[in-house]
Amino acid sequence: MGELAKRMGIKATDLIRALMKLGVMATINHPLDFDTATLLATDFGYEIENVALDVDEILEAEPDAPESLLKRPPVVTIMGHVDHGKTSLLDAIREANVIAGEAGGITQHIGAYDVELNGRKITFLDTPGHEAFTAMRARGAKVTDIVILVVAADDGVMPQTREAVNHSKAAGVPIIVAINKIDKPEASPGKVKQELMEFGLVSEEWGGETIFVEVSAKKRINLESLLEMVLLQADVLELKANPDKPARGTIVEAKLDKGRGPVATVLVQEGTLKSGDYFVAGVHYGRVRAMQNDRGDKVLAAGPAMPVEVIGFNGVPDAGDIFVAMGDEKQAKEIANHRQMKLRETELAKHSKLSLEQLYEKIQKGEVKDLNTIVKGDVQGSVEAVAESLRKLTTDAIRLNVLHASVGAITETDVNLASASNAIILGFNVRPEVKAAALAEKEGVDVRLYNIIYDAVDDIKKAMEGLLEPTFKEKYLGRAEIREVFSVPKAGMVAGSYVTDGKIVRNAQVRLLRDNMVVYEGKLGSLRRFKDDVKEVATGYECGMSLENYNDLKIGDIFECFEMEKVAGKL
Ligand code: GDP
Repeated sequence: MGELAKRMGIKATDLIRALMKLGVMATINHPLDFDTATLLATDFGYEIENVALDVDEILEAEPDAPESLLKRPPVVTIMGHVDHGKTSLLDAIREANVIAGEAGGITQHIGAYDVELNGRKITFLDTPGHEAFTAMRARGAKVTDIVILVVAADDGVMPQTREAVNHSKAAGVPIIVAINKIDKPEASPGKVKQELMEFGLVSEEWGGETIFVEVSAKKRINLESLLEMVLLQADVLELKANPDKPARGTIVEAKLDKGRGPVATVLVQEGTLKSGDYFVAGVHYGRVRAMQNDRGDKVLAAGPAMPVEVIGFNGVPDAGDIFVAMGDEKQAKEIANHRQMKLRETELAKHSKLSLEQLYEKIQKGEVKDLNTIVKGDVQGSVEAVAESLRKLTTDAIRLNVLHASVGAITETDVNLASASNAIILGFNVRPEVKAAALAEKEGVDVRLYNIIYDAVDDIKKAMEGLLEPTFKEKYLGRAEIREVFSVPKAGMVAGSYVTDGKIVRNAQVRLLRDNMVVYEGKLGSLRRFKDDVKEVATGYECGMSLENYNDLKIGDIFECFEMEKVAGKL
């Protein structure tokens, strides 16, 4: 709404008044739906274009001319029952290739890698597990061309083998069966083949069409034949893409990196991604600042089926988000912002509606209560783990809802959502952004910060049982930003800092934040103004600070100063 007021050149308060006339109570940050916006704009003599339609049009891929399509490498996902050797196989294939390819290559995990056989490439998604595969599919991303189903020759078909077959079939992806662990004396490949017939996976030697390869990840047996079979299957599928246009692809993995900010692995599916390209991915946008492959090599251009780790996002996208490179920044930004607003709108709408119903329910039953939570964390794994454990806490008396769970710092959007749906925010190794913290304070949103998942779940559990003991609640004191870092003999690293908010107190506790993530928590080693030791320094002043037992200080880092206050148990 603030945006609308700004564009029409009128005061936000006038707009709020006009809204009130329409019977809508709203604040400046309230997102407007298209109809309301149109009504309002007409009131003020403006016309509104619905950009939503344009967004979809812009992002729609144009069909490629058949002659522009070139052969591309296949993208493979490895699935199978736990302990049947998925990870070992992924590692074995990769290692064999790295050793053959370059001397002493250092590989890193970026969520996907590619190998070469006889001059042809194969891309592997190295997040084994069916969840990742299905989560991506649920978001409409089709990335996998071929599934390698790993079945241990000494164990046979197991529940997750079945599941893997079902998932692959549902996705319409062909399966190659790798019978693993054939080095074991008790291996019985025949039994595996027999068992898989039930699923319509019949080996060629028995008159069927499914490719079976007997391998050993451990002893590196037959790995090359497995890759050959993948290439054979790829030929049958006639995989093609047009490399000669702006890139489109899918986010395979993403995280908030302490030093580099948001980083994501993009699997390019069509076109070519180049350094410097602008792009949209889900609700985020950015410009490719740097790309590297899983060997840590710098990459300047990435074509179809190539996975690259990209730096330059304005936020952390989700795995499965569609990635689209575009001509200019303004457009990318507008689309991302528009999507963000849409997302917020649906989240708000969903939850205010939900809570109304719940209110009714509560009145009806007199006892049902809901506890709404929002989970933010530094890595996807812990976010999911927390959300999962929280949901499991639901009892007959209290329903536990996780309204939103994602990677990244706690933002104003999170606080707004919490405020709208009376939720508690749980943060793991992440902090609220300064504005978000202020908003939370204003709106009375409970933001709880943890380093240990167990502590959070335990707190919630106790609160539900009415057993929450008086706890120490953190009281925020102030923040200072590091402007300079120098080494002082005996004292170690000292940071020339500027107090941006509140005050810094010598004997209070501090934590060091980098990109809103906690890198260290402890006590100050020293606090000085010029040459004098001081007890505290207020906003707007410069000071020299050091940490006890910690020296990794960097320009731009933030010191956050706080003390612990005893409060009665409440959530
Ligand atoms: P995942 O759970 O499917 O990823 O399975 P892992 O790759 O972690 O392997 C499970 C266990 O099987 C590990 O102890 C491996 O060392 C072992 N393993 C994997 N492949 C082979 C193989 O080819 N032969 C033998 N003997 N053991 C294997």
